[in-house]
Amino acid sequence: MADVSTDTGEERALALDATDDPASRRSDFLIPPAVGGAFPLTAYLAGNSLGLQPRATRAELMADLDAWEEYGVRGHTEADRPWVSYHEALREPSARLVGARPDEVVVMNTLTVNLHLLLASFYRPTSIRHRIVIEDRAFSSDSYAVRSHVALRGHDPETAVLRLRPRPGEDVLRTEDVAKTLHDHAHSIATVLMGGVNYLTGEVMDMAEITAAGHEVGALVGWDLAHAAGNIPLHLHDWDVDFAAWCTYKYLNSGPGAVAGAFIHERHLAEPSTPRLEGWWSTDPASRFEMRPVSEPQHSADAWSLSNPPIFAMGPVRTSLQIFDEVGMDALRARSLRLTAYLRELLDALAQRADIAIVTPADDDHHGAQLSVRVPVDAADLVERLSSNWGVVADDRQPDIVRLAPAPLYCTYHDCWRAAEALSWELKGEAL
Ligand SMILES: *Cc1c(COP(=O)(O)O)cnc(C)c1O
Repeated sequence: MADVSTDTGEERALALDATDDPASRRSDFLIPPAVGGAFPLTAYLAGNSLGLQPRATRAELMADLDAWEEYGVRGHTEADRPWVSYHEALREPSARLVGARPDEVVVMNTLTVNLHLLLASFYRPTSIRHRIVIEDRAFSSDSYAVRSHVALRGHDPETAVLRLRPRPGEDVLRTEDVAKTLHDHAHSIATVLMGGVNYLTGEVMDMAEITAAGHEVGALVGWDLAHAAGNIPLHLHDWDVDFAAWCTYKYLNSGPGAVAGAFIHERHLAEPSTPRLEGWWSTDPASRFEMRPVSEPQHSADAWSLSNPPIFAMGPVRTSLQIFDEVGMDALRARSLRLTAYLRELLDALAQRADIAIVTPADDDHHGAQLSVRVPVDAADLVERLSSNWGVVADDRQPDIVRLAPAPLYCTYHDCWRAAEALSWELKGEAL
């Protein structure tokens, strides 16, 4: 009999999938058909880039369209889910997801827009304290947002943006090195803005510790949670984070370009000295339609919202958050750790024979669903072949990183096995 613990075969994957796991909600999702390979559906490991469509989303969207058809402008107040208060239905589930008080979160805009609005409030440079700290491997949009804010306030992005680099020969950041950089530049740092989970390496940062280190040197600390929300448990309020933003189309399955989230810590909500960009949705809804010349913002994250929300884009977020509420982040994370550990085991076996290396940290505190794999060939070409030859959907980051993310809501052990098997055939020309 095969030794199950070292068995890299398909049967083991199928056996693992056969055990009931209430955190697996695969039947509630639409899995894209495969363009190649032996299986009808894709092994979809790109949920870190664009999550899949929940089955319930279409009907919910149609209901919102029906309300528009039936009520016209009266839908603002008379639709089953009145549009004026639609975003409020997203508040509590979003707060549960990121570990916030309901007043601390708002769903609005898109991620980069929210970063800009939050930087307008929480990057307050003085001539001495004018620097922003980001990771050298920050997502491009974050880097551009930060640089443009620095320039907008009259500082030089080349000197005012401090980029955190891993040690030579290493791929990921160490918390102690981040803290040391903060202390080394203590008097010049205004704001820290980092990815909670790095998009490239999949590294989960020590958000509580880095936030505390930033506060120690007198900086404000914000987190981009694009790859963290819906992936790992978050406790933004307790971690004392100043601000955060996230998109909802990655692990949160709310569709391409879906509406994003923002968090502002309670202590900033009633602080009159916090500058803020405003619109009519910032003001108290009770007097909003009196069209006064001066706003009367509430002491909640809503004060950061500007416009009446895009209702057809809000419905998919609501539908998706309901699934997260039903499953619960703790159960989801437990399944995620099991799936990713299994995928890592298969890739470790492959690494014995092929020239690949897993860049993502192995300890559970420092990784989420995603494993980033350095490959000895052109990553884009490899990802294309994984799809066309095997029906395995991954994504690449130039030049040599392939990202594989088993999203625990809809991915299976068999998906992980297919991904590793396909990689082995493409790199080694043989079965795993
Ligand atoms: C996905 C992602 C973005 C994308 O920004 P949008 O404004 O949603 O287009 C930005 N930053 C990070 C870290 C991301 O992972």
